[in-house]
Amino acid sequence: MRKNVIAGNWKMNKVAAEAEKFVADTKDKVPSTAKVESVVCAPFLYLQSLVKQSEGTDLKIAAQNMHYEENGAFTGEVSPSMLKDIGVTYVVLGHSERRELFAETDETVNKKAHAAFKHDLTPIVCVGETLEQRESNQTMDVVSEQVKKGLAGLTDNQVKATILAYEPIWAIGTGKTASSEQANEVCTHIRKVVAETFSTDAAEAVRIQYGGSVKPANVDELLAQSDIDGALVGGASLEADSFLQLVEAGAK
Ligand code: PGA
Repeated sequence: MRKNVIAGNWKMNKVAAEAEKFVADTKDKVPSTAKVESVVCAPFLYLQSLVKQSEGTDLKIAAQNMHYEENGAFTGEVSPSMLKDIGVTYVVLGHSERRELFAETDETVNKKAHAAFKHDLTPIVCVGETLEQRESNQTMDVVSEQVKKGLAGLTDNQVKATILAYEPIWAIGTGKTASSEQANEVCTHIRKVVAETFSTDAAEAVRIQYGGSVKPANVDELLAQSDIDGALVGGASLEADSFLQLVEAGAK
């Protein structure tokens, strides 16, 4: 049985007091069960204080990105060792907004995935097709390539510990959710790619989230699908109540 992962991706939202209030309102309410992991992906600036604030609770704190080098002349970047040092445990890699707006590629995602494991960070590796790619029937090929290149060279055990997030770009922030069947079809395909590229054990263990306009009203149906093991949620993760409803759904 794979454990669901519900991750709220705040993106570039909230000032410090709002971030702290959210954690104060949720940290003791997230379910403490073997069925779900509850994660908040916060802006770099707040990670250290949110990690301290949530210490001893089941709310985990993630970064939304990082560099793959340990240190050096990379102005404006944050390294995996810095995240590890302050107690961050998860990091989102290759979100479509980073791919589209900040020139992230499968190659940099792959370097970052290796760097994450070197520092005991759990990577949440995002993949997904554009509307144009979906309409021209390229979804499965695009996603296969992103998975293969993004995870290249990882060991079986590392793949088992990886979280993949399937996020069709046309469904992010648009209110257009993929139907649960559409989402599951791609997640099943991703699991097959992992089985072929790594092993059936790795494919059985890897968690695959769906992301793209997930909200309390549609999360149950998505999580009921055979190959969906959680959700990466933007808009609906900004309010504590809504986030708590999502993690409760993950714990069912
Ligand atoms: P959304 O964002 O839930 O607002 O569609 C999802 C994401 O980008 O991870």
